[in-house]
Amino acid sequence: MDAADVTADLTEILFTRAQIDERIAEIAARIDADYADKNPLLIGVLNGAVMVMSDLSRALSIHCAMDWMAVSSYGMGTQSSGVVRILKDLSTDLEGRHVLVVEDIIDTGLTLTYLMQNLASRNPASLEIMTMFRKPDAMKAEIDVKYIGYDLPNQFVVGYGLDFAGRYRNLNDVGILAPHVYS
Ligand code: 5GP
Ligand code: MG
Ligand code: MG
Repeated sequence: MDAADVTADLTEILFTRAQIDERIAEIAARIDADYADKNPLLIGVLNGAVMVMSDLSRALSIHCAMDWMAVSSYGMGTQSSGVVRILKDLSTDLEGRHVLVVEDIIDTGLTLTYLMQNLASRNPASLEIMTMFRKPDAMKAEIDVKYIGYDLPNQFVVGYGLDFAGRYRNLNDVGILAPHVYS
């Protein structure tokens, strides 16, 4: 927890940076094998996926390209609604490309369901998902996630790209945010 001293803001650390690094190395080895000679295009969903994209891409041995999308999910409060607006679109044509969407976390999966439909309509050669974290509700969504870092309990977590009100993204570890921070 060296990026900022927020120990009192977390009730528990679920995954340390070392554990995250280890899991990313395992996933990168699978991607190296699955995408050898395919020059995949990694698409990061801003802002949360910045950390996992930068670590995953550098853990790969194969060539890859990177691009970014920013989306905003219309919803009441903290629940996402599945109605998504594209704030920043890709600069890359997906036609014939092997696309791997890189995500920080999937909760309800509503945002990603929309995004996958949108990306599929651009005729990529293949379209898969890597997510660093997955919440229990994501299992109910009809999304096929090829690469999963870790499954999480149904609690609000921060760190390693995940924020609360714009803060905590720069924590190395991932932990459960203490209720006193948001209540
Ligand atoms: P979904 O559409 O899958 O419900 O929404 C996923 C998005 O919700 C993530 O990209 C993230 O921005 C946010 N989110 C879901 N669960 C958490 C969590 O536990 N912590 C944080 N910081 N964000 C979360
Ligand atoms: Mg995300
Ligand atoms: Mg957020």
